[in-house]
Amino acid sequence: MIQSKQMDEKLIIIGTGPAGYTAAIYAARADLHPLVFTGGQIGGQLTTTTEVENFPGFPEGIMGPELMFNMSQQAEKHGARFAYEEVISITQEACSGLFTVTTSGGAYKAEAVIIATGAKARYLGLDGESELIGHGLTACATCDGAFYRDVPVCVVGGGDSACEEANFLTRFASKVYLIHRRDQLRASKAMQQRTLANEKVEPLWNSTIAAYHTDDKGELCSITLRSTVDGTERELEVKCVFMAIGHTPVSNFAGDLVDRDAAGFVITAPNGTATKTPGLFAAGDVADPTYRQAISAAGMGCRAAMDAERYLLTRE
Ligand SMILES: Cc1cc2nc3c(=O)[nH]c(=O)nc-3n(C[C@H](O)[C@H](O)[C@H](O)COP(=O)(O)OP(=O)(O)OC[C@H]3O[C@@H](n4cnc5c(N)ncnc54)[C@H](O)[C@@H]3O)c2cc1C
Repeated sequence: MIQSKQMDEKLIIIGTGPAGYTAAIYAARADLHPLVFTGGQIGGQLTTTTEVENFPGFPEGIMGPELMFNMSQQAEKHGARFAYEEVISITQEACSGLFTVTTSGGAYKAEAVIIATGAKARYLGLDGESELIGHGLTACATCDGAFYRDVPVCVVGGGDSACEEANFLTRFASKVYLIHRRDQLRASKAMQQRTLANEKVEPLWNSTIAAYHTDDKGELCSITLRSTVDGTERELEVKCVFMAIGHTPVSNFAGDLVDRDAAGFVITAPNGTATKTPGLFAAGDVADPTYRQAISAAGMGCRAAMDAERYLLTRE
C-alpha cells in the first residue's frame, strides 16, 4: 500500500536525465534542497549510448554513462536528495496550491514540481532491438551521424523529421536509403523535393525492416527489407539504422495539469518552462518537440530551476 510521507518539500524534480540533474544542481545551489525522483532509467537516455562528442567541455568526448554519473555527483554534492521511485500521479490542492506527488514508494507534498521525464523514441519493436541501440541503431542523426562516414546507412520514416535526418546524413554517409512503408512521403512538399533531389538519398518505397543482422562484434551490418505490397524480402547492407518515426513524451502522470501539443509534448510558456499550472514546470525532451539534445535539455533544466525559485519567492 502507498503510504503518505507527510513531508512538505519545497521542490520536487522528476527525472534524472540532463534536464533533471541540471535543475537539481541549480535548485540545490539556491538552497531549495530538491528531492529528485529517478524513475527506472537513472541518468536518462544518455546511459544507453557510448561516446557523446557534442556536449561542451569534453574536447575528447565522454561516455554517456560517465557524463550522467558526473552530473549526479555534482547535484548530490550541492545537496540534492535522490529517491529511487517512479512517479505515478501529480495532483494540486486548489486552496493551498500544494502538489501531491504519488510515487511507487509513497505520497509527497511539494510547493513546486519540475517535470523532466524525457521522450522515448519510437522503434519498430523487432527482436534484439534494445541491444542494438548504440551499436548501429539510433534515433538521433545529430548525435550519431558523424560516426558513420563513407558507409551506407538508412533512415526509417516518411515525415519531415525523416527527410531532415536523411539530408543531414548525406554529409557523412556514402549512401542514405530512406525506408518508407508507403509509396509517397508525408513530409511537406518543399522538404520532399529537397530530399528526393539529393543524389545520395535513395527512397525505398513500400518497404519495412523485417530483421537486423550483426557482425561478430555485435555491430549492425545489414537488414532484411520486406515489401509492404507482396511480402518479398531481400537483404540490404547498412551500417546504421536511423529511426525517425516519432517520439513519445512521458507526462501521463501529470493528467490535466499540463497542456500538450498534438504529438504529446508538454506546452510551456514561450521562452520559459512554466506549464499552465502555477508552480508546475517542465524541462528537457518532454517539453521540446524541436531540439531534443542533452545540452538543450540541460539548458532547459537550468531555466526550470530558476523559474521554480522565482515562483517559490512569490509564496513566501
Ligand atoms: C542512444 C541515444 C544517443 C544519444 N546521443 C546523444 C548525443 O550524442 N548528444 C546529445 O546531445 N544527445 C544525445 N541523445 C539525446 C539525449 O539523450 C536527450 O536529448 C536527453 O537525454 C534528454 O534529456 P532529458 O533530461 O529531457 O530526459 P531523459 O534523458 O530522457 O531522462 C528522463 C528521466 O526521467 C525519468 N522518468 C521517466 N518517467 C518517470 C516517472 N514516471 N517517474 C520518475 N522518473 C521518470 C527517467 O528515469 C529518466 O531519468 C541521445 C539519445 C539516445 C537515446
